Amino acid sequence: MISTLYIEEEAHNYPLTKTLLSRFSHARHIPIGRFGEVFNSAKQNFRLQKEKPALILAVKHGRRVLPIPDGYSIGREKNYYFSHLLNCPFDCSYCFLQGMYRSAHYVLFVNYEDYMEDIASVSHEAPTTFFSGYDGDSLALESFISFTQTFFPFFEKLSHAELELRTKSVSIKTLLQQEPLQNVVVAYSLNPHTVAKKYEPKTPSLAARLDALEKLEQHGWRVGLRFDPVLYVENYKAQYAPFFDEVFSRVKNPHSVTLGGFRVPKDLYKKMRKIAPTNLVIAQGSPESEILPFCAAQIRNHIEEERFFPCQSINES
Ligand code: SF4
Repeated sequence: MISTLYIEEEAHNYPLTKTLLSRFSHARHIPIGRFGEVFNSAKQNFRLQKEKPALILAVKHGRRVLPIPDGYSIGREKNYYFSHLLNCPFDCSYCFLQGMYRSAHYVLFVNYEDYMEDIASVSHEAPTTFFSGYDGDSLALESFISFTQTFFPFFEKLSHAELELRTKSVSIKTLLQQEPLQNVVVAYSLNPHTVAKKYEPKTPSLAARLDALEKLEQHGWRVGLRFDPVLYVENYKAQYAPFFDEVFSRVKNPHSVTLGGFRVPKDLYKKMRKIAPTNLVIAQGSPESEILPFCAAQIRNHIEEERFFPCQSINES
């Protein structure tokens, strides 16, 4: 799976680096100074790299835990995100990472202990949610990055903090082999089958994601539903109404449900158009004023208001 590893000088002595060097002992190992030399280099092609991403092992300095943008909470007053991993093996047409980064290589920051220290330092006063899937998928690379194995025992002791894993991956074996943690929410991004097939290449099908959600819920994990982004398609009412019925018939007791459209800052949008000029979602944008209120009304048929967190533009409309 990984055929090239770049290793930052400073990352060499971390236990996770050692594990990964031995796990990928047959890959090319290339020492580098700082990860930005490879990741931010101007001469690279995001789309080509996406076919076969390398893994860059690095140490994260500076601010590791940041407040989330307004309007993205799932109920708690204090909300932060952290990114121990940049990029993802999936290839959603609407993914903002393709405009944000020059490279499609994975960057894994191996200094997990520093993240935990920073999380602990901001979570001592009030109930707080930490979001781990802003710059990648929280579970897709779990088979080798051991994120949950390391962070779950830490969050288990941090009872007033809550961790959201945001994912489209169905790699849930390790979750099903352990006792569920009541302060972890495994949240799935979902779209109707035909929409996902067209605009979410390389991701598990809707059926596979629903199976995973059902198994997790039966096992006792708290699960979340993320209809974010919903995408405008011509016959969106015929696509989304039965989709919501199906999802809520399978997932009986979601911890939280969010709803949002395709929205990225203007500069990022320009870059995304440049990288993928034929991408329909990016070219057309999404007429949110039509589809979002429709979806919100559908969702409200299935779930009470306290668990529903639509994006602000819906609340304002
Ligand atoms: S799963 Fe998320 S991070 Fe990965 S390509 Fe899709 S939108 Fe981007």
